[in-house]
This record gives sequence, structure tokens and C-alpha cells, in this order.
Amino acid sequence: MFQQEEYDVIVVGAGHAGCEAAAAAANLGSKVLLVTMNMNTIAQMSCNPAMGGVAKGQIVREIDALGGQSGIITDQTMIQFRMLNRSKGPAMWSPRAQSDRMRFAEAWRLTLEGIANVDFWQEAVTGIVVENDTVVGVKTQLGIEFRGKSVVLTNGTFLNGLIHIGEKNFGGGRAAEKGSRGITEQLLELGFEAGRMKTGTPPRVDGRSLDYSKMEAQGGDEVPSKFSYLDTPRLTQQRPCYITYTNERVHDILREGFEKSPMFQGRIKGLGPRYCPSVEDKINRFADKDRHQIFVEPEGWSTVECYINGFSSSLPEDVQYRALREIAGFENAKMFRPGYAIEYDFFPPTQLSLTLETKRVQNLYFAGQINGTTGYEEAACQGLMAGINAHNKVHGKGPFVLKRSEAYIGVLIDDLVNKGTDEPYRMFTSRAEHRILLRQDNADLRLTPLGHELGLASDERLERVRLKEAQAAELAELLQKFAIETAEINPLLVELGSAEIHEKTRAMNLLRRPNVELADLRRALPALNAALAAFDAEALEQAIINIKYETYLVKEQQQAERMQELENFVIQGRLDYRAMPALSHEAREKLLKVQPETIGQASRISGISPADVSVLMVYLGR
Ligand code: FAD
Repeated sequence: MFQQEEYDVIVVGAGHAGCEAAAAAANLGSKVLLVTMNMNTIAQMSCNPAMGGVAKGQIVREIDALGGQSGIITDQTMIQFRMLNRSKGPAMWSPRAQSDRMRFAEAWRLTLEGIANVDFWQEAVTGIVVENDTVVGVKTQLGIEFRGKSVVLTNGTFLNGLIHIGEKNFGGGRAAEKGSRGITEQLLELGFEAGRMKTGTPPRVDGRSLDYSKMEAQGGDEVPSKFSYLDTPRLTQQRPCYITYTNERVHDILREGFEKSPMFQGRIKGLGPRYCPSVEDKINRFADKDRHQIFVEPEGWSTVECYINGFSSSLPEDVQYRALREIAGFENAKMFRPGYAIEYDFFPPTQLSLTLETKRVQNLYFAGQINGTTGYEEAACQGLMAGINAHNKVHGKGPFVLKRSEAYIGVLIDDLVNKGTDEPYRMFTSRAEHRILLRQDNADLRLTPLGHELGLASDERLERVRLKEAQAAELAELLQKFAIETAEINPLLVELGSAEIHEKTRAMNLLRRPNVELADLRRALPALNAALAAFDAEALEQAIINIKYETYLVKEQQQAERMQELENFVIQGRLDYRAMPALSHEAREKLLKVQPETIGQASRISGISPADVSVLMVYLGR
């Protein structure tokens, strides 16, 4: 035995999933070993230097509310913040940060080093050790065996990774890093199914060689917000991104390279992310478009390196270079690294239970890109959930599963486990049926009590939630009581295009009008403004959302409760679906494979019809 008798949780890989898994399990009290190939690339952002965005920002807020680290680290290291979709309803507001890539990775490493329960080992894991269908450790390239009561695999894009640039291809897990061999092969032998996916990244350029005067600057929010519900730093200065466009000359040069494209020539077999296509894919698919938008994103506070968002490519490096130089502002561009595509193995996530434990090998968990997802946020939240569940399992505690009506994290895992995915899965607001309940502003109210009960969210977090709730309720009462005379408000209502009032009314009634905002009332009513001065901004926001969207929120809550009845209908043990002839053939096969834990879960498996659900309910005596 090397270094340590036996760990509670061994985490393989220190990407976004692995870091959250290790931190969560260790903060809960597990003795954790984090084994990763290269300690200098802990929490490396493989692709764009940014966290959050539509639906992804909500996930980061949820991770934070539960007591995870990604939100705190993003706040500590961002260079720009924007709340996307501000002009839409609050369910769509999505925080996004431009990150300092190097500082983000450094902050993660220092955070992990600050947790006494985390041990580190730098090496490639080549296999797991399984006894009696239960994982009991991992083996490394040097032949070392580490014993652990549970193992979380978070190998990202590294499993048999194959990098493509034009006609060249070579093994690798990410640019300048080796791929991982052995794990897929062993898991296949153990009876797992594996698939192949691909993703890609754009070139990086030298910011000193760009002419920003030919581009449009895009700054951050005037009053930047942040991700963590704790007292993390708020940005006082920000770095802008820049917008420019491709043009016909760029497209012509890229087209010349199509005959050497690994994608068009069929050398890449894996399916790529539909919503993040390469530039050659965009030109090919949308041949009628004469330009595509490019975002020039700085990689940090002090580096000159820039990430060229929208120009992901696996064409030969000289084609990328020549095409880039035809973009306005890029005439003298110097390239630091070419874009590339990477193919890697993943394991269809229908082989997991809702705790992310594999059904085939006990105490073995998968999290992140290995499950067919794409994105740092999607990976991080799975890592958090796998870390929590691995800790709970080895300490004899129950599973920790979030419902679809509680969190985007619940939606993501439920989708993966029940529907699987054959293309890289990323989160969208449209995937959540209860998205009006799953907002970025209320992740703390939804999840911090659960995180606190687990022992992961601190007392301070819970106190803040209680204070916010109390203040929001107090505010609602104040606005309900605050009386407004016709004369003091009608000029404002006319200005806003809202109907005048003819008798004294309450502030609450006016706020229910779609075109009357709290800021307007504060401007017109100094007494109200003074009464609100002592309230916290987040509590104010919460109270206003509750007032403005009350009817929708109540309806959505009722619907979530109705759906919950199906979730509460538990399927005990393994049913013999083969002995239920009334089920369709497809339903039998899918149910056998997924082994759903509730009728609700069964109803969401693709291919299961309402008629199949009725058969199940009759069989279960309902
Ligand atoms: P990773 O971040 O890949 O981390 C895996 C970790 O495991 C690494 O630390 C690695 O060293 C370690 N490791 C692997 N195998 C072993 C082993 N056998 N032993 C020890 N350690 C091991 N996401 C998007 O949302 N949009 C994009 O456009 C996009 N493009 C991408 C382009 C490229 C080229 C790459 C590589 C990734 C891209 N991603 C993109 C994906 C994004 O990087 C991942 O979704 C995210 O990083 C996955 O996190 P993870 O923790 O699962 O894995």
C-alpha cells in the first residue's frame, strides 16, 4: 500500500468535475485522494475562458448555493461580468463571467490545497480495481495501487483522445497533454458500453497584433453582479471583449481547406456539439450567410493572449492563419496556437443511477464529459453531486438527488440517466419544464437549506438565506401597506404609458403592472425610497419577482407538485419487465436497461408512452 491505508473517495482527474467532486467529498469529511495526470493543469479551462451564460450561469449559482466552489472561484478571478437576457423575464437572466484562465486554475489549486482532507497524486490512472462487483481502488501507470472505498472517474476528453488538425492527427487529451489509455478497455471488459464524441476549439492569438480600432468593444455590466451568495469580491474594473466578423474572403480561404478537413473527409467519427459548430461547419451549413460574428476574448488581466470565440476549427493551421488575417482587425494577427478538434470516448449515462453511481460496479461514479456532456458548468455540477453521493454512500448515508423542479442540476442528471445522449449534452433553459422556478436569483432559497442539511453549505450561508427570506417577506408587507395618493403618482403613470389611478392605491398594486418598475416608484415617491433604503438589494429583487410573477409562480408550483406524485410512486427492486406483455417492445427494452426508480422517472425515458406508464401503474397496483 502506498502513502495511505485506504481512502474514502478517490477522484480521477482534476478538471471541473474532479475538482468539485474532491472538494465536496473532503469538505463533508471524507478522506480524498485526487489523482490527476498533471498537477499544473488542475482546473484548466480547455476551451473558452468564461463561466456561466444562458442556463449555465444558473448552474453555477446552484453549485454555489449547495456549498460548491466554482462560483467563489469565478468571482475571485473574473475580468468581466454580464447578466445576459436582462431584457427578458427573470427566468432567463443568466450570469456570465469572462475569466482569467491562469488565475482561475491557480485559485482552484489553492482552494484544494487548503482542504486538509485532500491528498494529491500526479500520474495517469490506467484502470480501476474491482472486487465482488465493487470498486476498491485504482491502478496507475507506475503500477501503484491506491485503495479506496469509492472512485469517481472524471476523465473529460482524455479517454483515447485523438487530436485532429487538418490531415494530421495524434493521441492527446487536450493540446500538449497526453491522452488516457486503459480505462475504456477495462470498462468494456466489465460490460460497460462506450461511445465516441468530438469537440473543438479555436485558435488563440497575440492581442498585441490586433487592431481593436476596427472592432466594436463590448464591456461588462455597469454595475457588475457576481456568482456566489457569499461575500466574494465584486469587480471594480473590467476588461472589454471585442466583436468583429468573418467575410467572404475568409470563407473562400476556409473552403480551400475543406479537402483537408478531418470532419468533411470522414476522419472524425464522433458526434460534435450541435450548438457550438466549427467555423467551417457554419460556412458549409449556412452557405447563404456572408459573415459570422467573432468575439475576441482576453484570456486574463495581464496576458496578451486572446481566445477567438466563433472561430473553432480543425482545418490545417496555415489555412486557419490565412483566413484569420482576412478578418477586420486581424490583418497582422500572430497566432499562438491553432484550433483543433478532439475525439474521445464517453460512456452513455443511461448506465448510471441518479446518484451518478454506475449500475454495473458499485461505488464507482462517473462525472463530467465522460458522461457525454460538454461545458465546465455541466461537468462541475456533476462532480459536486458525485462527490456528495460517494461520500454519503461510504458513510452509510442516503442518496442525494435533486428533483427536476428543484434545480437545473436535477434536470441535467435526470435527462442524462433517463434519456441518455448521443451528442454532447449542454444545458438550455428550454430543457427545464419548471424554469420559472429555477432562477439564478433564488438558487440559494431553493438549495442552501439542502446543502446545509448535508453539511456542505456553511451556517453563514443558511443565515444569509433566512435573512433574505425574512427581508423579502417584510418588504412584501411594506409594499402591501404603502398607500399612494392619486396626485403623487399619476404624472409618473402617464409618463410610463400606464393607466392613471382614480383613488388611493397600494404600492403592491402598481408593481403588479407590467410597465411599472420599483425604480420608477422610488424615483417618484421619496417616502417609499427612504423606507426601502435599509433593505438588501437581493431581498428587494426577490420580493419584486414574487409580486410581479405571482400568478405564474403559483401555477408552476402546483404543476410541479402534481408531477411530484408520479415521482413519489417508487418502483421497489428490479421488476421483470419481460413478464409484462402489455408493454410495447421498445418500452420493455428501455425499462430493463434504465431500471427507473420511480414512475416519474419511467415516464421520461424516451420511447415510453403514456400507455406504457398506465401498464406500469396497473402492474404496481394503482
Ligand atoms: P476535463 O476538464 O477534460 O478534465 C479531465 C481531467 O482528468 C484532466 O485534469 C486530466 O488531466 C485528467 N485525467 C484524464 N484522464 C486521466 C487519467 N487516466 N488519470 C489521471 N488523470 C486523468 N465545452 C464547451 O462548453 N464548449 C466548447 O466549445 C468546448 N470545446 C472544447 C474543446 C476542446 C478542445 C476541449 C478539450 C474541451 C472543450 N469543451 C468545451 C469541453 C470542456 O472543456 C469540458 O466540458 C470540461 O472541461 C469537462 O470537464 P471535465 O472535468 O469532465 O474534464
